[in-house]
Amino acid sequence: MRVLGLILLFVAAAAIAGGVFYASRAQAGGASAGNAPLTDNGETSNDKGTLKSMISNAGEKATKKEGPRYSKSGYDVTPLSQGKIDLLARKLTPEEKNVVLAKGTERPFCGTLLDNHKEGVYVCRLCGLPLFSSENKFNSGTGWPSFFQPYDNDHVAYHKDGSLGMERIEILCERCTAHLGHVFDDGPKPTGLRYCVNSASLEFVEKKDGKLELPPESQPLKTDTAYFGGGCFWGVEDLFQQVPGVIDAVSGYMGGHKANPTYKEVCYTDTEHAEVVKIVFDPARVTYKDLLAKFFKFHDPTQLDKQGPDHGRQYRSAIFAADDKQLAEAKAFIAEQSAKPKFQARKIVTTLELAGQPGHAAGFWPAEEYHQDYHAKHGGHCAIPSDDD
Ligand SMILES: [Zn+2]
Repeated sequence: MRVLGLILLFVAAAAIAGGVFYASRAQAGGASAGNAPLTDNGETSNDKGTLKSMISNAGEKATKKEGPRYSKSGYDVTPLSQGKIDLLARKLTPEEKNVVLAKGTERPFCGTLLDNHKEGVYVCRLCGLPLFSSENKFNSGTGWPSFFQPYDNDHVAYHKDGSLGMERIEILCERCTAHLGHVFDDGPKPTGLRYCVNSASLEFVEKKDGKLELPPESQPLKTDTAYFGGGCFWGVEDLFQQVPGVIDAVSGYMGGHKANPTYKEVCYTDTEHAEVVKIVFDPARVTYKDLLAKFFKFHDPTQLDKQGPDHGRQYRSAIFAADDKQLAEAKAFIAEQSAKPKFQARKIVTTLELAGQPGHAAGFWPAEEYHQDYHAKHGGHCAIPSDDD
């Protein structure tokens, strides 16, 4: 395990010109593959699955910035207003109200979903957010539907519950705060957790003929994807993660010919891959052109095969368009920027191509787990540059 102090030294240093900020691996103490914190196959010693980290993550979520919130799987999990909750609650039966709103518990072996073994998704009775999947259901013998993990960790909230003279962890719907049940640490592998849920808090949507037809309130947002390479992906990922309308940013490799490359291979062999960040965004909140503009703020598009102190082809400035429409928009954006006085002396060298070109290993390869959310895990967020020119 590497020394955390080194990482904490990390800063997003202001670059020499144009208010461009670099987030550099070299500044993190040269964390090359030789002293990488964890294994190359992405196996980490993190304690994601423990109750303790679930609760601390929940606390972190609660303190997150205002405005819309998205889950990893692309759902809008912005907390609903009390007015909206009251409106939704009108459809509940008295029994459901007792569980969902008044935190009651249905009697064991009485719930309608206990013995349900069909394939499908369990959504929130109140707001429709998918909460659990049939894939993660198991027979706990307790008399309540039991799951070893939620549909998406971002869909469930955790609260300490000291009622009944016991210390328990209550689970709620992240979006509408419907009471679901409790979670215990005596579940099966791989999480060791048992989400003990009231049937009254759930609605089951069955998969039919291999197809899952979710009602509108249970569907993810319609999202788009963008791919940008702007030097060390830790910083680029962190910066895009902070852009309103960005649902998820993932660090990875793209543009080379080696399928499923490792960090070491990208660093030391001729894979032609670039460090690239895949950005999933809500086009209703942020446009591709907005993201292009941010991308040019977040890195220096005039540096050839390097970025700040990080040198090498993998740090090249690159845009991989997801489709022809993005390709045209990016082309127009680069032309527009190139005409600006600030790009006369130092020309833009950003490469632009359609994702998944011939000779490339198909598409985007996510980087090892220890590269993901690097700043969120280790502290030292990058300052987001201002929108001024
Ligand atoms: Zn809900």
